Amino acid sequence: MLGLGSGRIVNLLVSPSDGERLAGALSAFVEDVRKLGPVLKSGRETAKKASIEEVNDEIKYLIDETKAYKCVECGKCTVVCPIPRFEPEFAMPRIVVLKSLEGLTEHLVDDKDIWTCTTCGLCNSLCPFKVDYCGFIQGLRIQARTLGHQPVCSHRGLIHSSMRVMAKTDLKQDRLQWIPPDCRVSESCRVLYFVGCLPHFDAIFSDRKLGLSNISAAGIRLMNAAGVEPNVSTQERCCGHDLLWTGDEDNFLKLMDKNLNLIRESGAEKVVFSCPECFRTFSVDYQEFEGDLGFELVHISEYLKRLIDDGKLSFPKRDVTIPVTYHDSCRLGIHMEIIDAPRQLLEAAGMQVLEMENTKNRSYCCGNCAWTNCSSTTMKIQLERMKQAKRTGASCLLTSDPKCQIHLSCATSGDLPIDRDLVDIPVKYIPIALAELLPNT
Ligand code: SF4
Ligand code: SF4
Repeated sequence: MLGLGSGRIVNLLVSPSDGERLAGALSAFVEDVRKLGPVLKSGRETAKKASIEEVNDEIKYLIDETKAYKCVECGKCTVVCPIPRFEPEFAMPRIVVLKSLEGLTEHLVDDKDIWTCTTCGLCNSLCPFKVDYCGFIQGLRIQARTLGHQPVCSHRGLIHSSMRVMAKTDLKQDRLQWIPPDCRVSESCRVLYFVGCLPHFDAIFSDRKLGLSNISAAGIRLMNAAGVEPNVSTQERCCGHDLLWTGDEDNFLKLMDKNLNLIRESGAEKVVFSCPECFRTFSVDYQEFEGDLGFELVHISEYLKRLIDDGKLSFPKRDVTIPVTYHDSCRLGIHMEIIDAPRQLLEAAGMQVLEMENTKNRSYCCGNCAWTNCSSTTMKIQLERMKQAKRTGASCLLTSDPKCQIHLSCATSGDLPIDRDLVDIPVKYIPIALAELLPNT
């Protein structure tokens, strides 16, 4: 339940058959909101409005900074971009940049294709001219938002609203209830485990039984098995990835400040991320604003691999390897170029990685970015990915990004336009699969 203004949010799991409990919770929520009183006009956020001239200038600067002007006479990345394969009319970089250069800003910012691009980065990784097309799209979306344009947000914008609530200064959180009693954490540990929005997603997608809090707990169990009792903060906020990639730079910056203050005050020397999006956001976007952050950043798949290399973490020896396939999340694989470590980690745990057709720095994305524009095209991309996974003959599709698990599982959860056998393969997040191999779990 979400009201207008701070302190007006409640997360509650209620079964559809428990109408009485829902009615009681709604009455209590309305009563609490009534006690808080009306939201004063001066307390509301007002969106920063820019003139079309200012936006034109910003876009010219963006084209220069990202070298996107090179796209006008190119178009090579059309062959790798997953979208035109399923949506032929999708405007590729060449068209988008041409419109920008022709000053068609008002059409451009209203164009659904600037939000349809999944920012997977395949064009960046193949580009012979080192154009940062993803950076261009990120900047374009910020400009579009200053003129009042937004993408269609999935799940009626609930996820983005909860992220904006987390940007509030006076927010009081109690977000560690998901930690099971057998997981050991310690406030004095110099390793901070940044879990991201998983506990929130677990509540939002409770009907799907994705067990997302188990994902965060699996990370702690694996660290505990290596003798590490990480610090997990009750005041951690969303990293701001999804707000930044939907153009909301103001709230992204607020979240960045809060997270950086929190981590610096904790004395952490190393931050381990469960989510590649948080990892990329700290490594690229935070550092773009702040420079060196003063602590080490590492994704959990790389961290666990290091613990194995140092002899601190091990798995029981197996006579037969487990055949799995691995989906490179675009933030970890293409954006951060961490491709080998997750594979080496799986092999060290007794798994054999069977590669899909599109893999490593040519990997297909899971079809969705920043909870926007879920469509028949994204569904087709996801089903294609699941077909590729199934064709490997693996027993399981493993991913380094909990959100990829959500999106790929979602694509196969309802009625399908194709034979279910073609895509019938379980999807799991790596730490969950590894924690299952630990003795006594
Ligand atoms: S991003 Fe690179 S490959 Fe794609 S159109 Fe632009 S210049 Fe060509
Ligand atoms: S970022 Fe991905 S979806 Fe967007 S244009 Fe490039 S290849 Fe296509």
